[in-house]
Amino acid sequence: MRLTTIKLAGFKSFVDPTTLHLPTNMTGVVGPNGCGKSNIIDAIRWVMGESAASRLRGDALTDVIFSGSSGRKPVGSAQVELLFDNSDGLVGGEYAGYNEISVKRIVTRDGQSQYFLNGVRCRRRDITDLFLGTGLGPRSYSIIEQGMISEIVEADPEQLRGHLEEAAGISKYKERRKETESR
Ligand code: ATP
Ligand code: MG
Repeated sequence: MRLTTIKLAGFKSFVDPTTLHLPTNMTGVVGPNGCGKSNIIDAIRWVMGESAASRLRGDALTDVIFSGSSGRKPVGSAQVELLFDNSDGLVGGEYAGYNEISVKRIVTRDGQSQYFLNGVRCRRRDITDLFLGTGLGPRSYSIIEQGMISEIVEADPEQLRGHLEEAAGISKYKERRKETESR
């Protein structure tokens, strides 16, 4: 599974619809301070279901919507879509047969979020479930931020075990067991 395309519109500084292609396994994003590099990472984490504004460097969840600039008015909604090449079938379940998986999230000024999987409206849960165990998720180790290295170095055994379980692909089953037990 590989992230191949990121489409943004109205998200943070990306007010106009923008498509970023990631053609190879290694992509560098370069640019001056404040040009929007970190906003791209925020966008990825946001589509994957991040629900804490602070993790997206904002105070409120609607802070991800373009809030205007000297020459532009604010807009009413933000949307981000990620396209994954799934020809290796890593993302399973009912999506295992899809060579391409699209994950999309839209938020409007009233704070309402909508999620879509391959164009079909779904719950946030469906997206987090789909990627659980792949290493990709709003808070998984596939995005390593500043400060996270020391977090891992200083992690207690429980937290370290969590990372290992995600890497081994068993976090999905643990999550389901927890859910069943709580019923
Ligand atoms: P650095 O090299 O300093 O890390 P960067 O390229 O990572 O910079 P970002 O943090 O991605 O920069 O982008 C910051 C810019 O995004 C700022 O100019 C900020 O005003 C703009 N920005 C963030 N949120 C919004 C928003 N909701 N509406 C409009 N602009 C926004
Ligand atoms: Mg940055």
